[in-house]
Formats: sequence, structure tokens, C-alpha cells
Amino acid sequence: MHNGNHDVIVVGAGFAGLACAHEIAKAGRRVCVIDRKRDLGGRLHTTGILVEEALANPLFTDLPAGIHHSVSSVKLYAPGLESIELTAPGYRFHTTDTPALMRWLGEQAVTAGVDMRLGCAFREAQATAHGWHLPGVGQCRYLVGADGARSRVAAYFELGRVRDLLHGVEYEYDGAGLRRPDALHCFISRRWAPGYIGWIAQTPRGVQAGLAQRLRPGAPPPDVAAFLAHVAPLVGLSIVRKPDSIRAGLIPCGGPVRPRVGRHVLLAGDAAGVVSPVTAGGIHSGLRHGAEVGRALGQALDSGIPPQASSIRAIPAWRRKRALRWAFDHLQWDWPFDLLLKSPPLRRMAEQIYFHRRGRAPSSP
Ligand SMILES: Cc1cc2nc3c(=O)[nH]c(=O)nc-3n(C[C@H](O)[C@H](O)[C@H](O)COP(=O)(O)OP(=O)(O)OC[C@H]3O[C@@H](n4cnc5c(N)ncnc54)[C@H](O)[C@@H]3O)c2cc1C
Repeated sequence: MHNGNHDVIVVGAGFAGLACAHEIAKAGRRVCVIDRKRDLGGRLHTTGILVEEALANPLFTDLPAGIHHSVSSVKLYAPGLESIELTAPGYRFHTTDTPALMRWLGEQAVTAGVDMRLGCAFREAQATAHGWHLPGVGQCRYLVGADGARSRVAAYFELGRVRDLLHGVEYEYDGAGLRRPDALHCFISRRWAPGYIGWIAQTPRGVQAGLAQRLRPGAPPPDVAAFLAHVAPLVGLSIVRKPDSIRAGLIPCGGPVRPRVGRHVLLAGDAAGVVSPVTAGGIHSGLRHGAEVGRALGQALDSGIPPQASSIRAIPAWRRKRALRWAFDHLQWDWPFDLLLKSPPLRRMAEQIYFHRRGRAPSSP
């Protein structure tokens, strides 16, 4: 038990906060992570699909096998429900038993020496000569806000705020199965998911099906029930019962916020807007960014020189993806996808988005 003095306090035990804390603990520094949740597996706001690169993250080296399920292809459906299948050699997505994953990640952090305080929300901080004092938690040299898209840390310290958001809602059917459990089923449709897509995936626990759309004032929330009534038979999903649980949340889609660094305070992950504006994947980028913030803080603590925003790598500019986001927001019609889904240019674009150029057309029949 220590005296309440920490080198770093991280707010948020999500992917970014835990990756950050691991790096700081690895550097032999005292790090405390606080999270307002009492159970890291509870009240989740993510589908939890990992891209191949995320699974290769050292944090997942000893990930228990039952926690993830490999998916080798993407089945992309046009609004009229015609589909193409996309694959890339050796590339997989990994759906997860996300509650078990988050609990496991939390346990790993504790084993690595992180002082984990659950059920502890960030509300305020008082400046000290060398950093911050958080009432009820202790003092620190540096504070990291890894507290998600609606970061209270960003608001409190008047750092950059996430303004552009997608709204995602997902139903979970425990024990359910899909006809093609090896595929991630993605649905383009302006009707069901304006500005994003719908998805259905097999997980180790059952089936997850969701929609995300651009968050606009006054717009009704995504209607997952109606979407499923339309597409469930196509993937062999029976939805005669109510979902066992619902996940929902906001996803940054406008690129990194500015500023991300203040006086002895930094933002990481969703709080910093580090999420792909097109795919809305934020787990891999959050893990990388959180780790990079942690490394920069390790160096700052060694050198006594506070980190600069420019010294923290792992912030992609996402210029092309931001352009695509603009196009999706302003020019999304259904008919071009119905007409062009099977054309080589559209297939190539989809492969680039899903597999970052590693895609290839499945061998022709
Ligand atoms: C519906 C949905 C589906 C998604 N699906 C995917 C996907 O399949 N794959 C993918 O790569 N990305 C997905 N994303 C995006 C991805 O989930 C996020 O980018 C990622 O979880 C961000 O991690 P993070 O650690 O930055 O923030 P979060 O995961 O949001 O973690 C923030 C943590 O901070 C805690 N917290 C918040 N406020 C406070 C406070 N005041 N005090 C203390 N603690 C606080 C929260 O309890 C939480 O544990 C999805 C997002 C949504 C909303």
C-alpha cells in the first residue's frame, strides 16, 4: 500500500488507459488507474472486434483462447442486399467475449503493478507545484484522460473536445449462431445506417448485431429491431426473442482533437479523437496511442521535461479517411452501391478500407 503519491494517474480503464498504464508500470513508475465502473466487463460501449494488428499487441500475448473468435472474411451487402465477399491472405478479424476481455485486461494490469481503483470517477483536480491532486485518489505528476468520447478530463482542463460523433447501438443474442460464423456481415444502407453501416457477427458468446449512424440533433436513434427484421433471415439469425443485452455508445469520427496536451495533463484514445473516421475502429488505435502516451510520460519522468504533443507518435492524420467521411456524410446514396458493388473499383476501395491494401478477390469460380 503506498502513500497516495503516483507518477501518473490515468482516468479510464478502457483499451487506451490500460495500454498507457502498462507502459508506465513497465518503466518502473507508480501508476494508478481510476474508472467509474465497478466491473470493467459491465456497461460496455463497444462491439469489441479486434483487427489482426490489435491481436498482435503484446498486451494480448497470453489472451485465453475462449475469449476471441476468428473471422476470415467480410461479407459486404449493398442496400438491395446483393453481396460480395472480401478476404486478405492471412488476415483475420477477431470478435470477442468483450466483458471477459476487459476483466482479463484489468487483471493483467494489476499483475503488472498498476494500482487499479474501480468505482472511482474523475470529477476535479487541484494544481500542485509539480502536477495534480485528485481528491480521494492522491497526487500525481501527470494526469491522463483516457475516459472516452465524452471525456470529462478534456472538458475540465479545457483541452480539445470530440465534436463529430457516430451513434452506435448493438443487440446481443447469447448462444445464437449464424449460418456463416466465419464472416463479418456488413450492410451499407442510408435507410438503416446513414453515415456508417450495419453489422452482424458471430462471437464466442453468441451473435452481435448493430447499427451506427451519424449523430445529428433530433435524429431518431438507430432502429436495430427493424434492421434485423429486414436482414436476419439472410444470415440465418433467429430473432424471435428479445436481445439478451444491448450495448450503445458514441464513436468519434472527426479525427484527433486539439489540443491533446495541457499542463501535466494528456488525452489518449477516444478522448483524443484517435479513431478511424471511416471504419470507426478505435481499439487498435487506442491501444497504440495509449501506449505511446505512456512511453512519452516514462521519458518525461526520466528527463524532467514535460512531453510535447509532437513527441507522441501513433496519431494518424487520416486525411483520406476524413475525405471519405465527408463524402459519406454528404453524398451517401443507395443506388451507386447497388449498381457498382461488384465493380472492381468499389471492391478495391472496400478492400482498402477493411484490409489496408492487403485484400484480394476470392478466387473466381
Ligand atoms: C457501439 C460501438 C461499437 C464499437 N465497435 C468497435 C469495434 O468492434 N472495434 C473497434 O476497434 N472499435 C469499436 N468501437 C470504438 C471503440 O470501442 C473505442 O474506440 C475504444 O473502446 C476506445 O477506447 P478508450 O480506452 O479510448 O475509451 P473507452 O473504451 O470508452 O474507455 C473509457 C473508460 O473511461 C471510463 N470513464 C469515463 N468517464 C470517467 C470518469 N469521469 N471517471 C473515471 N472513469 C471514467 C469509462 O467507464 C471507460 O471504462 C465501437 C464503439 C461503439 C460505441
